[in-house]
Amino acid sequence: MIVDLQHVKLTYQAPDGEVDAISDISFGIEEGEFVSLVGPSGCGKSTLLSTIAGLEPPSAGTISIDHEAVTAPSAKIGYMPQKDQLFPWRTIWANVTLGLEIQHQNTGERQAHAHELLERYGLAEFIQKTPAQLSGGMRQRCALIRTLATDPKILLLDEPFSALDYQTRLSVSADIYTIIRQEHKTALLVTHDISESISLSDRVVVLTHRPSRVKNIHTLDDLKDVPPLQRRDHPAFRTHFNEIWKELDAHA
Ligand code: ADP
Ligand code: MG
Repeated sequence: MIVDLQHVKLTYQAPDGEVDAISDISFGIEEGEFVSLVGPSGCGKSTLLSTIAGLEPPSAGTISIDHEAVTAPSAKIGYMPQKDQLFPWRTIWANVTLGLEIQHQNTGERQAHAHELLERYGLAEFIQKTPAQLSGGMRQRCALIRTLATDPKILLLDEPFSALDYQTRLSVSADIYTIIRQEHKTALLVTHDISESISLSDRVVVLTHRPSRVKNIHTLDDLKDVPPLQRRDHPAFRTHFNEIWKELDAHA
């Protein structure tokens, strides 16, 4: 297991008392696996990602990454928050190399790697532009390349497609799936879109309402070798969809 969560619990101390966000979550992710996390709004999905990223210590339980306990943010993790968070005044190149600057890794070799990623994924000719000059889908690819530039083993993606319109979302999610597979990364994707979780992942972890627990874990073996867009037309798709839908709908 490259990611291992054991009985993770998280309680926020708010001014008007405690908020139990996560009650008890355990699951693991194998190296190279793509796992989606779905759950009702406010059930603690973003909280869980920031805890795995080492930004928020759990109130109880343990998290390990590559067999080491998480105590602080690690270079092994690339965390892509919900908004693309590109800086509007920085060029695409200055945005993509921001993580390298922060981690003091802005070497020639790393820059060459970043440039290669921009070329491979169709953004090389835009490096002197600013984010406002790019489409929403291009900005998402740029944010992903920024996350990949530091060469993390594990990607944590928090609703990366939610700001995109439906058509763009389909094509960008298929692009991002290809990028993650080709770069041999392990991914944990938060989404509230059941179809998206089934079309992209190896397994789907379904969470309950807050304070969340794992309700069920779906293994999508029957869709394993089917690319994201084709999965939506596969007979197994509807079966998984209906099961997850029922689990999310149930008030338990
Ligand atoms: P999700 O991403 O699943 O929609 P979140 O992880 O953002 O849910 O939030 C889970 C719960 O914790 C929500 O009830 C939210 O209001 C609460 N919460 C999130 N962040 C904080 C915080 N910093 N302080 C107090 N409560 C918080
Ligand atoms: Mg969230």
